Amino acid sequence: MDEAECIKQVIGKGLPENSTLQATMEDGKPYVLPPWRVNDIILLAIETLSDVNYYDDDFDYKKMIREQGIKLKKFSSFTPENLEEFRKVSLSRWEEGVCVIFPNPGTGEQCRMIAYNEKHNSIECMQIVFHEFAHIKLHHTQQSINGEVEATCFALAMTMFLLLEKLFHVGKTVVNAAGKSFLVQTIRDTIKQKEAI
Ligand SMILES: [Zn+2]
Repeated sequence: MDEAECIKQVIGKGLPENSTLQATMEDGKPYVLPPWRVNDIILLAIETLSDVNYYDDDFDYKKMIREQGIKLKKFSSFTPENLEEFRKVSLSRWEEGVCVIFPNPGTGEQCRMIAYNEKHNSIECMQIVFHEFAHIKLHHTQQSINGEVEATCFALAMTMFLLLEKLFHVGKTVVNAAGKSFLVQTIRDTIKQKEAI
């Protein structure tokens, strides 16, 4: 089954009933991201990046995503009607991007696709793509407020690491001096340090 046919079948299905956006957690309280979860997400970001040597001069984040078997597309590659159908089955509620995971109806193989609104500057596009990528990395299974908060947190951490790298070569400097495991381990140790009283 080709990709277009596969997509057509998937977007015809819609989301299950329980996948509507929840404004609150199940206990009725508004969702607040706990600090330990923010730490987990920061750590996931640096682990994800260091796995693919993000400090190399020719590092390309879009290539990184495609090499993980995820299709990466621009909004302009869809008709407005198809894009609207994708929004309905997206794991994401952000208007600027779409993240869809579905089994290929022919093979059962898992297909993953990210699409983003390319009418933004390059850093903004990067944030959108990382936000959608986060829904996959964090194993989100349905649309939710907490999923959106987590995805934005991951996108912020990824963007900051890459921005600092591009401008100041922080990762490259540390890796050249002390090695990749030192870079990740030092960040891991630091964010788990106890607060001095
Ligand atoms: Zn989202």
